[in-house]
Amino acid sequence: MTSVIERLCGDRPVFSVEFFPPRDDADEAVLWRSIRELEQLDPAYMSITYGAGGSSRDGTIRSIARVATETTLVPMAHLTAVNHSVAELRNVIGWYAAVGVRNILALRGDPPGDPYGEWIPHPHGLTYAEELVELVRSLGDFCVGVSAFPYGHPRSPDLETDTKYLVRKFQAGAEFGIAQLFFQAEDFLRLRDRVAAAGSDALLIPGIMPLTTPRTLAKTIELSGAEAPRWLLDRLEPRSSDPKAFRAEGLDIVTELCERLLAEGVPSLHFYTFNRSKATRELAGRLGLVPARA
Ligand code: FAD
Repeated sequence: MTSVIERLCGDRPVFSVEFFPPRDDADEAVLWRSIRELEQLDPAYMSITYGAGGSSRDGTIRSIARVATETTLVPMAHLTAVNHSVAELRNVIGWYAAVGVRNILALRGDPPGDPYGEWIPHPHGLTYAEELVELVRSLGDFCVGVSAFPYGHPRSPDLETDTKYLVRKFQAGAEFGIAQLFFQAEDFLRLRDRVAAAGSDALLIPGIMPLTTPRTLAKTIELSGAEAPRWLLDRLEPRSSDPKAFRAEGLDIVTELCERLLAEGVPSLHFYTFNRSKATRELAGRLGLVPARA
């Protein structure tokens, strides 16, 4: 089974795609249409997020198992420590291995309900992602990734502390980091510089949201944890009530961002798809990340 890190270390830049588990049959049909459409473009890997509990977690395991057995894609499963004992985490990791998933994005996760609420670890669970990295690595031949935050994690007191704990995740055995959403290439490049200055050569991959609608812009602002720069809002807000114009301008902005990142040598771009394929296909095509045969 190919590992994510092998796919990232080729001689040309690549892209990857992120989905979330389907909630019902209709969702599942949409998800699978998108997976099949993107499969033809040979993304480096595809990942499925891990929810706060219950059926969504089953959905992650079911979907990633199907990807591993029915597609040519390299699967990566997200996993969080939220509401899990170590025994349960071992069980999920065992399931991933059993269905052929060897790539795991190891995360602490947020408290369910209020992401900014108090983090209370499971009494027999883990407190930080670093411990989950160690657990996954101790259980077999897994390629492990972690999250990284260009503006610092919202709970971090400052960027120095944030960088210190990010680097500890790499020292614990994570081989790459995927950056949370950000607005300007410099924001990502500063994160990359901080990590390098702290002595780590782990690969960092920018997370990219195709800005197709006002909703995707709002989500980007929320997830980034930062304020959107004025120039970005000036380009998008006047088009808020014109869906076609908003989409065209949004994809131009994202294309410019990605071109700058590629020029700075990033090995890969990680697209948040919202389980749709069209915008990602368009961006990958514009950026020359699609293999010639596709
Ligand atoms: P950690 O690395 O544990 O960090 C959390 C905080 O604790 C930070 O402030 C950090 O600096 C600090 N810290 C870390 N280690 C230590 C230590 N040893 N001692 C003291 N302080 C420490 N959430 C989901 O629920 N499901 C998903 O599928 C999911 N996918 C994601 C994918 C990406 C690419 C990203 C960027 C985020 C994703 N998230 C997901 C969100 C993520 O779970 C939250 O942002 C969460 O708050 C942080 O998780 P983490 O793994 O970065 O935590």
